[in-house]
Order: sequence, then C-alpha cells, then structure tokens
Amino acid sequence: MTVTRFAPSPTGRLHVGNIRTALHNCLLARQAGGRFLLRIDDTDPERSEEQYVEAIRRDLAWLGLAPDGEERQSTRLALYDAAFEKLQASGRVYRCYETAQELELRRKVLLGRGLPPIYDRAALALTEADHAEKAAQGIAPHWRFLIDRDEPIAWDDGIRGAQKFEGDRLSDPVIRRADGSWLYMLPSAVDDIDMGVTNVLRGEDHVSNTAVQLQMFTALGATPPAFAHEALLTGSEGKLSKRLGSLGVDAFREQGLEAMALNSLLARIGTSQPVVAETSMAALAEGFDLSTFGRAPARFDEAELLRINAQIVHQMDYAEVCGLLPEGMDEAAWLTVRPNLEKASEAQEWWQVIAGDLAAPVLTEEDRAFVAAAAQAAGVMTWDADAWKTLTAMLKDSTGRKGKALFLPLRLALTGIDHGPDMNALLPLIGRERAIERLTAAA
Ligand code: GLU
Repeated sequence: MTVTRFAPSPTGRLHVGNIRTALHNCLLARQAGGRFLLRIDDTDPERSEEQYVEAIRRDLAWLGLAPDGEERQSTRLALYDAAFEKLQASGRVYRCYETAQELELRRKVLLGRGLPPIYDRAALALTEADHAEKAAQGIAPHWRFLIDRDEPIAWDDGIRGAQKFEGDRLSDPVIRRADGSWLYMLPSAVDDIDMGVTNVLRGEDHVSNTAVQLQMFTALGATPPAFAHEALLTGSEGKLSKRLGSLGVDAFREQGLEAMALNSLLARIGTSQPVVAETSMAALAEGFDLSTFGRAPARFDEAELLRINAQIVHQMDYAEVCGLLPEGMDEAAWLTVRPNLEKASEAQEWWQVIAGDLAAPVLTEEDRAFVAAAAQAAGVMTWDADAWKTLTAMLKDSTGRKGKALFLPLRLALTGIDHGPDMNALLPLIGRERAIERLTAAA
C-alpha cells in the first residue's frame, strides 16, 4: 500500500510552497488508494507552537487534504533513542565538541582554498581519555552520523531520474545536539520507517538530505522509500516574492478563493500537463503523474489562480454555495449571476443589483425620455419569463431604437451598471415593481 506523508514544522503558517507539497503527497496516495499522513515535525520546542499545529490541521481540512493519520515527533522521542542506540552500537554515530564559531572558521578556510566545506572528522581522532576530559569539564558532546564513504549513494528519483552522490562530498550531519535534542535528519528517517512510508515526495532543497538519509535507512536495516524531489515554486516574475512566499491558506480563503482553484493550479504547474479547473480531488488525483514534472521551477501566477477560480465558480451548484449567499438569493438568481463571477463572494454585489437600493444613473436628456417610455411600457405589459423580450420589442416598435441605443440605457436604469448578467434572466428577478421604480427614478 502506498503511504505518503506531509511533514511540516509547526513554526509558522503553511504557505503556498508547503501547500503544494501537501497536495502532491495527498494526490499520490489518493491515486493509489493509499494513505496520506501528517507528521508534525516538532522536535524543536523553542520554535514549535501549538497554534501553528492547529492552523496546519485547519488549513489542510479547508484545502480538502485532511490526512488519514497524524503523528507528532515530540511524542516519539523513545523511537529516536532506540534508533540512536542501534547506530551507536554499529559505530555509525560519533561525539563532537566543536563550537559553531570553530566550524565556521574551518568552513571559511576550506572555501578559501576552493575546497568543499566538508566537516573534517577531526573528532573521530579523539580518544576515550579526551572524551573523559570533556566530561570532567562539564562539556557534553553533540553527535554526528558517520557517512560510509565506501558505500555508493544512488537512487532513481521519481522526478530527477538517476541520482548519484559521492560520500566524501557530504558532511557527516549533526543529528543530535549536546542537550540531547534532535535535529531533523534522523527522526525523519526513523519515522519514515516506522510509519511505513513508501514514497517521499518533497522539494529539491532536500536532495542532499536524501543522500544522507538513504544511508540511515540502510544502517537501521530498512529498505528506503521511493524518493522524488520537485523543483521549487516561483512567482510569475521568476522568483517567489516575499509576499507570495508568505501567503498562507488563510490569505487565499479571505480573498474568497476556492480551495479547488488553488489545488487545481498547484497540482499542475511545473508539469507538462495543462492546468485544468477541477472540482474534485478525485479528478486531480486521476491525472497526477510524477513523470510529467519538469526540472524547471513551477511558476505560480495569481492571475491564473483567479481565472481557474472563475472557472470553478461557473460550475458550482446552488447547493454548494447557498450557505454563503445573501438572504433571499435563490437558485434562479445564483444561476443568473454565476457566469459573471470570478469569486463566489461577488454574488453579494449582484444580489444588491437585483434586489437592493440603487442610485439612479445619470442619463442624457434623450435617454431619460426613453426610459420614461420604458417605465410606462413596463406598467402595461405582461410580466413573465420573457419580460425582457417583451419590453425591448415594445420599445423597439414605439421608438425605433435598436442595438446598443435600445439596450444600454435600459440596463443602466435597471441595474445601475453598463454590463452584467443576461438581462433575459435578470429582469424577471428584478421583478415588475422594482423595474418600474428604477426606470421611473432614472427618467
Ligand atoms: N520538516 C521538514 C521540512 O519541513 C520535512 C522534510 C521532509 O519532507 O522530510 O522541511
């Protein structure tokens, strides 16, 4: 069974890049009839906040990405201890004492010589007496994972194809701090094993982590999951602007955008497939295909998001939106205004046009006489579903007007604006009484 996971650190709100990763993992699982899990990476108590854990859950639910299970790293520390002991027993972790400043200095020296800034493994030369001396001074070690430089590191990446790393090009990562707390690397691998994760799909900023984590899986006696790393997201101008990079789910929701618009866009940008406005996750999952993902960054264009949103709104049934519509706005009114909306919330403005109080438009003398004639015609004609046809036919006959000269002053007088939904559908909604009132006011 396919098992995927989304593993955010609860140190802030989910932004558009995180949403994309969550979505893709969800789609990958849904497509295979598998499980999509949420893993809260909260091993750093200083930066993790409960409010963000709650916000992540809420945001995923709003997006339609509710996970099939949830784990929190802060409750799984015993597992990490056990894995650590195993690595200790097999000599795959070692104690170090360098300070951040010392390491920084060594990095600079290496870079200055044009060499890769790889940790020099100086601590491997320490003897038990050296360690005892540190302990006597009250200095606790931090721990590094020992990369096996003889073991080839390679995988077939679901997006990037064949990947190969030389072990001596990688630094042994610090996996545990001197205070015993965990850095990201080991707990993630331990969890992927324990949670039965079969597919890790994440951003390409994790490619070198994968190289190291592959060795962790092997060192822990596990078969690694399949890995795929996607190109990062950029804005329409080529890089993710600060504003866009920090745009959270709540910002999209507050703008009145549909979750499926965001999902439809994020599911397909960066792939060779066209962006299609889908109204269901099942439809998105069906077409999801890692082999269509490109190596170039995915461009997130807010104008495109709005276009997709409009396409989704144009397909929305009354039942889906009725809870959000203004009091009194019925199905006929929804279906009439729907083609004119970019966002469902704009229905409010059209309802105002249909049923609210309008300011009379400023018309020319001639047009005022024309709408006065229209008010009279509206008073004597039959009001049914064809009211607009009846009214305009009568006025065409009596005034000789046609085209824009016939329609525009009427639209202006009846709706207050020069564009909008089909008048055939709109006029019966405005109704006889209000229509006569508005035509009279405009005259
Ligand atoms: N918490 C990590 C991150 O947000 C998870 C990375 C992973 O998917 O393994 O970058």
